Amino acid sequence: MTRAGLMREVNRGVRLFADEPDSDTDASWEFFCECGAEGCFEHILISPFEFDALRRAEAPVLAPGHPPLTPDADSAQDELVSAPASS
Ligand SMILES: [Zn+2]
Repeated sequence: MTRAGLMREVNRGVRLFADEPDSDTDASWEFFCECGAEGCFEHILISPFEFDALRRAEAPVLAPGHPPLTPDADSAQDELVSAPASS
């Protein structure tokens, strides 16, 4: 899995957590930047509703100034990333 894919999974978990009965859905939650850049651990405070809107638009969650990946970059890169390095 690519970093962007991993961050999407993490954000999905955050979103699920925001749906818990004890959670405040009006509050802003920390979602992670999905730009997929190496070493990017930026997070963004948005509400679950804003997150849902991005997901509906199939738009990535991005920190300000972070460029989005192309939509199909994930599946195209997965096998390359998992291939063993030749020595
Ligand atoms: Zn980023």
